[in-house]
Amino acid sequence: MVEQTLCIIKPDAVERNLIGKILQMIEGADLKIKALKMLHLNKKQAEGFYEVHKEKPFFDSLTNYMSSGPIVVAVLEGEDAIKRYRELMGATNPKEAKQGTIRNQFALDVEKNSVHGSDSPENAVKEIAYFFDKLEVL
Ligand code: UDP
Ligand code: MG
Repeated sequence: MVEQTLCIIKPDAVERNLIGKILQMIEGADLKIKALKMLHLNKKQAEGFYEVHKEKPFFDSLTNYMSSGPIVVAVLEGEDAIKRYRELMGATNPKEAKQGTIRNQFALDVEKNSVHGSDSPENAVKEIAYFFDKLEVL
């Protein structure tokens, strides 16, 4: 099934000039970029995005980090895009991420792990709507 998923290139990756390399890996994996922009979240906006994790011990640190610098948000589309993009990202903890994945190559640690990807069709719809107006997604 053709799906859309939300991708974020996180502050650690933008800071290290990795936007181009990461988008190249995404396009190389046959995922189509359907919307793309850069922004700098404030703490409240980062908390809103990661609301599902608000009870987790890492929530405060995560939302400080996600609001610490610019990010790139993108909508990716393709056959089975949600699962395929998560495979391309690799495991949350880069120590467990397979060779050739984005996190294996670029992530600094379990928090500063360079990219985000939606984990289900329901969350993809919510996350895309968090960042993009209907008219901004091709
Ligand atoms: N995270 C963290 N410590 C942890 C687990 C997660 O700092 O022990 C951060 C990390 O940046 C991760 C984000 O919280 O990407 C969301 O966690 P999730 O479990 O949803 O991982 P993901 O879906 O991003 O692989
Ligand atoms: Mg997640």
